[in-house]
Amino acid sequence: MKYAKNILETIGNTPLVKLNALTADLPCLVLAKYETFNPGNSVKDRMALQMIEDAEEAGILRPGGTIIEGTSGNTGMGLALAAIVKGYGMICVISDKQSKEKIDILKAVGSKVYVCPTDVAPEDPRSYYSTAKRLAKEIPNSWYVNQYDNPSNCKAHFLSTGPEIWEQTAGKVTHFVVGVGTGGTISGVGSYLKLQNPNVKVWGVDTYGSVFKKYHETGIFDKNEIYPYITEGIGEDILPKNVRFEIIDGFTKVTDKDAAVYTQKLAKEEGMFLGNSAGAAIKGLLQLKEHFSKDDVVVVLFHDHGSRYVGKMFNDDWMSEKGFLE
Ligand code: PMP
Repeated sequence: MKYAKNILETIGNTPLVKLNALTADLPCLVLAKYETFNPGNSVKDRMALQMIEDAEEAGILRPGGTIIEGTSGNTGMGLALAAIVKGYGMICVISDKQSKEKIDILKAVGSKVYVCPTDVAPEDPRSYYSTAKRLAKEIPNSWYVNQYDNPSNCKAHFLSTGPEIWEQTAGKVTHFVVGVGTGGTISGVGSYLKLQNPNVKVWGVDTYGSVFKKYHETGIFDKNEIYPYITEGIGEDILPKNVRFEIIDGFTKVTDKDAAVYTQKLAKEEGMFLGNSAGAAIKGLLQLKEHFSKDDVVVVLFHDHGSRYVGKMFNDDWMSEKGFLE
C-alpha cells in the first residue's frame, strides 16, 4: 500500500504546467508552478510546516502551545492544518480587507480569527502586526510566528520549491517570476536557482501602493509609495527581512484592475481557477515580454486557489463596482 501518514506529508511536489493561450505572443516557454495542489490550496503550506518544525526543534513551540500569526489567510491555513495534526491551538489575526471566504475557511479548520483594520500604520496598536504581538505576550505558552522576518519561511522554498523547479525543468529554467509579499517565495526559490545557475533572472511582481519596486531601484523607503490597494497577497508597507533584495533582478508593478482582470482570464482562457496574486503574476510576466527570447524557460509561481475569491474577482457585481469590468 502507498499512502501518506497524515495530510502534512502531501505538502509539496506540485506540478509544473505550460501556459498556452495567455502567453501565445511570447517567444519563450512559460511554465506555471501550480501551488494549489498543496493540501491547504496554497504554497504557504510549505513554509508553515517548516516554521513550525524549526520552532519545535528550537524549543520555542512546546506541546499544548498556541500558534499566533498575522496572516492574510493562506499562511493561517497552512499553520492551522499543521496545528491540527500536531495538537496545537491556532489564532489568526487578519486585516479587514481580506475576503470573507478566507476568514470562514480559517474558522473551518479550527482557527480563532481576529479581524483588524487595514488602513492603519503597522505600529498602530489596532494593526494586525501589533495585535498579533500583543496576543502573543498575553497568552501563556504561545508562539508568534512572524512570517515576515522568520528565516524558516525563505528556507522552506530554498529546500523544497526551488529544487522542485530546478529538477522539473531539468536545469533549463532561465527566469523566475513571482508575486512578493513576505518575500519568502522569491528569496528562497530565487537564491536556490541562482546557486545552481547564476544566470537565472529573478523578477518580483509588486502592486501600486507598495514599497518594494522603488526601494529595490533607489534604496529609498518612500512613504509616498504607500496607499490602500485591492490586490491580495502581494505588496507591503514594510520591508520584511525575508525579501532578499540582492538576489532580485527587478520588480514590475501591476494595477489592481489588471490583476483582477487577469485572474479572470487565467480561469476563462487557461482553465486555471486561481487567486488574485496569480492574475498579478501572469500580467507582470507579460509586462516583462521584452526580457524574454526564444530559448528561454520562464517559470511563474501561482500561489493560491480561486475559491477564496468567488465574492470578489470572480463576481461581476464586485468587478463592476470597482470599475474593473472591461
Ligand atoms: N500570493 C498570495 C495569495 C499570498 O498569500 C502571498 C503571501 N502573502 C503571496 C502571494 C506572496 O508570497 P510571499 O509571502 O512568499 O512573498
